[in-house]
Amino acid sequence: MRNEWLKKEIQGFKPYQVAPITVPTVINANENAKSLWEYTDVKSAVMEKLLTVAPNRYPLPYADSLRAKTAAYIGCKPEEILLGNGGDEMISLITQAFLDKGDSIVVHGPTFDMYALGAEANGASVNTVVDSSDFAHDIEEFLQVIAETNPKIVYVCNPNNPTGVLWKKNDLVRIAEAAPKVVIFDEAYMEFCDDSELTMIHELVEYPNMLILRTFSKAFGLAGCRVGYLVGQEDAINMVSKVKPPYNLNVFSQAIAEVALDYKEVLLGEVQKVCALRDEFIETVSELSHAEVFPSATNFVLLRTDRVEALQKALLEAGILAKYYSPGSALYGCLRITITTAEVNERLLTVIKEVCN
Ligand SMILES: *Cc1c(COP(=O)(O)O)cnc(C)c1O
Repeated sequence: MRNEWLKKEIQGFKPYQVAPITVPTVINANENAKSLWEYTDVKSAVMEKLLTVAPNRYPLPYADSLRAKTAAYIGCKPEEILLGNGGDEMISLITQAFLDKGDSIVVHGPTFDMYALGAEANGASVNTVVDSSDFAHDIEEFLQVIAETNPKIVYVCNPNNPTGVLWKKNDLVRIAEAAPKVVIFDEAYMEFCDDSELTMIHELVEYPNMLILRTFSKAFGLAGCRVGYLVGQEDAINMVSKVKPPYNLNVFSQAIAEVALDYKEVLLGEVQKVCALRDEFIETVSELSHAEVFPSATNFVLLRTDRVEALQKALLEAGILAKYYSPGSALYGCLRITITTAEVNERLLTVIKEVCN
């Protein structure tokens, strides 16, 4: 195959790769540490449910049953939900549906890379409004760049990955008002926020140009099942549906996500524990002289230190893999640490205190 046959925009791209993982404690991808199998009731419910699906039949294209349960969970109509293979597929569908060559998008940075990658792959340009040195969002500049560049899509990740920082609700409303075309609020971590008023889902009726992205990968612990969804007005959902592969979400993932919703009280109970551990972790680390942590409304914490190489090395020696950012990255000097269990927190803090005190 010849590289020159590729779309020009992606000729310089590299396939996404994950290095083989050789340590026991993996806290670099914001995954939920607990598997569904650890809940006896949920496990038997999943097993029972799986035997009711027909692997020889195509799945329902809109995952009707899961769609209805997701709508009930979110508090909207089934027609206002579009399910797919994780938030990643939803971003890819948005990109395909809305971006023409020569369009532009506005993002803040650092944020989730998929927005910019999707735009670039489709020949759209990316205008990034850089957060302050302590990762606070500059709303005035963000609004100004929107006004100046007339973007096809504005993306806001709230709370933000990889910083953990939350946007103010009032700022989100100002962004929704200012966006001239499509506005996307990525709420992949919204279940980890204490305040249920922070989601933009309550504003659905006000903004026909708004789509909200959610996932089962984080709070519900289904990263391996690949289930995510968009929430928007019916009309907006129908537009993105035009580019959806007919049978995108497989029968097994649909079934497992349904069971997860049936047991949402149990599963989301774990989220409260993770949030408490996160707050403890932040409090302890913020007392160290060579480490700085940023407020987080997610299941991870961004830690900055002038001893980042030593810290990453010591963590690896202790069998812990955190997310490391190479020199040259906007986040160089930081590690992104997923919060999982009290036991892992204890091991983490032992190492961090040793290196960063
Ligand atoms: C994890 C994540 C997603 C979605 O991930 P999927 O596993 O593809 O559902 C989307 N946005 C952000 C910011 C994330 O961190």
